[in-house]
Amino acid sequence: MSTRYEVARTDLDALLAEWGETRYRADQVWKGLYEARIPLDAITALPRALRERLAGALPEALTVALAATAADGLTSKWLWRARRDGTEIETVLMRTSQRATVCVSSQAGCAMGCTFCATGQAGLDRHLDTGEIVEQVVRAQHDCPQRVSNVVFMGMGEPLANYGPVWESVERFHGDLGMSARQITISTVGVVPGMRRLAQESLPVTLAVSLHAPDDALRDTLVPLNSRYPIADVLDAAAEVAGARGRRVSFEYAVIHGVNDRIDQAVALGRLLAAWPGAGGAHVNLIPLNPTTGFSGRAPTPGRVTAFAEAVRRPGVTVTIRRNRGVDIDAACGQLRTRARDEVTPGPASGTAPEPEAEPASEPEGRAVSVLAPRPARMSP
Ligand code: SF4
Repeated sequence: MSTRYEVARTDLDALLAEWGETRYRADQVWKGLYEARIPLDAITALPRALRERLAGALPEALTVALAATAADGLTSKWLWRARRDGTEIETVLMRTSQRATVCVSSQAGCAMGCTFCATGQAGLDRHLDTGEIVEQVVRAQHDCPQRVSNVVFMGMGEPLANYGPVWESVERFHGDLGMSARQITISTVGVVPGMRRLAQESLPVTLAVSLHAPDDALRDTLVPLNSRYPIADVLDAAAEVAGARGRRVSFEYAVIHGVNDRIDQAVALGRLLAAWPGAGGAHVNLIPLNPTTGFSGRAPTPGRVTAFAEAVRRPGVTVTIRRNRGVDIDAACGQLRTRARDEVTPGPASGTAPEPEAEPASEPEGRAVSVLAPRPARMSP
């Protein structure tokens, strides 16, 4: 059985034709789900009996296991349980006055094993299918007072390790939800064959490369995939994507006290990326790390992060320091699932949920989901 947001338009048409419904009805369903972006049951132009029949034939793929909204009302997070096998995945919605961004998971868990990441520590359960990825965005939209404008593949999983469903989802976001390809960001820890494949695609999505270290010796210890695809290969592939797109690639750097936050490391990072030949130049996002139960690292002080940023900027690289969003609701990748599993003995989890690029809006009105009460805000030391 297909799920509600997995089913393609042609299959929906065929299903409704089989039920003796007109093409006009299929149009109403599709426009309701993807143009109006409302739940099936809210498409009141459809007879109730048809809505109920559709709900039975095309169930949602995800049920809410936990949900929470941060105290600022701008960041919401869901822990979903997949209907087909109960596996758990996470989605984060981040809002500003200019945009609403959904951070989606591409896999349940992750096989990449990055040492500072709660998801990586738990390992891979399975790949998500297209319907499960698309549904994360549509379901977040149902609880968002603004139109969702941006999607970032920065949730659980390595998107380029699940290439087919991820790319199909990108095409659905662009074609069915009407999003600009440039507002869709695929983040990778450096899966070079996937990056090269991305360079051949027609839709100009944005690429973010998680670097986290200025040299291979350190990166080997943080990102195990580096031993297979070292920094030079990752930067080459990133330049290929930038060349094909004609626009800059961003490089993510989780800043960890005493590990990768020294000034000489910042200088090395600045030199490395100033020499990077990619179109548009490199942009670095510095993301102070939140602590995790399985990793002893923590964020540096804000002053140290600022000094690090200055040193990276010196040779001409642009740098943004990202504020972590939704710290009080474990909004970083893998944290909510970890919290749910550790609820009896809760402790800090891991990862980073970087804020979107625009400045935060003043307190907007929004429909808050709060099945899970937010825990007290936990600031990085
Ligand atoms: S940081 Fe990303 S790629 Fe690395 S283990 Fe976590 S989810 Fe996977």
